[in-house]
Amino acid sequence: MSEFHDAIIIGAGPAGLTAGIYLMRAGIEALLLEKTLSGGMPVNTERVENYPGFPEGISGRELMERFAAHAKAFGLPVKEFSEVSGVDHDGRTFTVRTTEGEYKSSGIIIAAGTEPVKMGIPGEDELLGRGISYCATCDGMFFRNLDVAVIGGGDSAIEEGLSLAHIVRKVYVVHRRDALRAQKILQDRAFGNEKMEFLWNKRPVEIGGTGQVEYITLEDTKTREHSRVDVSGVFIYVGYSAKTAFLGNLVERDASGFIVTDEHLASKTKGLYAAGDVRKKTLRQISTAVGDGALAAVNLEKYLLEIKP
Ligand SMILES: Cc1cc2nc3c(=O)[nH]c(=O)nc-3n(C[C@H](O)[C@H](O)[C@H](O)COP(=O)(O)OP(=O)(O)OC[C@H]3O[C@@H](n4cnc5c(N)ncnc54)[C@H](O)[C@@H]3O)c2cc1C
Repeated sequence: MSEFHDAIIIGAGPAGLTAGIYLMRAGIEALLLEKTLSGGMPVNTERVENYPGFPEGISGRELMERFAAHAKAFGLPVKEFSEVSGVDHDGRTFTVRTTEGEYKSSGIIIAAGTEPVKMGIPGEDELLGRGISYCATCDGMFFRNLDVAVIGGGDSAIEEGLSLAHIVRKVYVVHRRDALRAQKILQDRAFGNEKMEFLWNKRPVEIGGTGQVEYITLEDTKTREHSRVDVSGVFIYVGYSAKTAFLGNLVERDASGFIVTDEHLASKTKGLYAAGDVRKKTLRQISTAVGDGALAAVNLEKYLLEIKP
């Protein structure tokens, strides 16, 4: 027999933990399933400066420990290391399959976030963990006093580049355009940082080295000329995609795989809501994930009341 819950939340990042706090305070019996440890993506962010209430900034890990403690204080059960591999719906009840067993529920909130997009160039898979990383906060210290490249021009790339600059000798920022997309405050800091050098209109075509990253080959997007930059590490921030294959055709997705919801954060399947980075939206931040978690929980609560016999 599978365990039955009124609501199941998938993912213990800012969206999932917030949804959990709201459901527990509403007296809804809920379970949160998390594939690794609680906290989600911010656990790997050195400093969060734009989450309201922390004018002096806070480490991402500490912020998420507070989220998890808050959810625990309201009694939310969290099953860590339970990766959801499939969800079915028979018109009334959801069946959620995980590495740890099967669960049933009347409603679901998907808060599974995103994963970094790979560039798909030669050397990327072979040298992953041997100088290639998608997380400066996790791996930066392995590159003390060495030269590294950061790929991308958005908030993540520049934020992580700035954090690497505290540790490494030099950060090459490789961007395929001639201007950054990152927030102005981050751009100002990056341009003022003497350890950061910008390689404009360049895209990586190969990462090379014998058993370890030694260089990156760049193509100029205008002249098509190739150049080689010697680096010991490459940090890739070219985008994030939602991994929602486990939902089959229970949801509609946009071209990048993000879940399409209505203004109540409901998906095309009744009782299934999506919150946070996993859904189609214009701003992916902790603050918007928190708002989504609250909204999805309140709307799921209304749905559960409607279907109550
Ligand atoms: C480098 C970087 C820096 C950032 N800096 C900031 C910042 O300064 N300020 C800010 O506001 N935002 C920042 N962000 C964005 C912020 O991290 C996200 O917007 C936020 O974490 C989204 O929360 P979420 O709950 O939707 O998803 P996530 O935080 O990604 O959490 C999703 C959770 O779901 C789990 N999960 C995934 N699939 C499954 C599955 N199949 N089964 C069970 N569990 C699953 C994951 O393990 C994860 O714990 C940054 C992002 C990056 C990459």
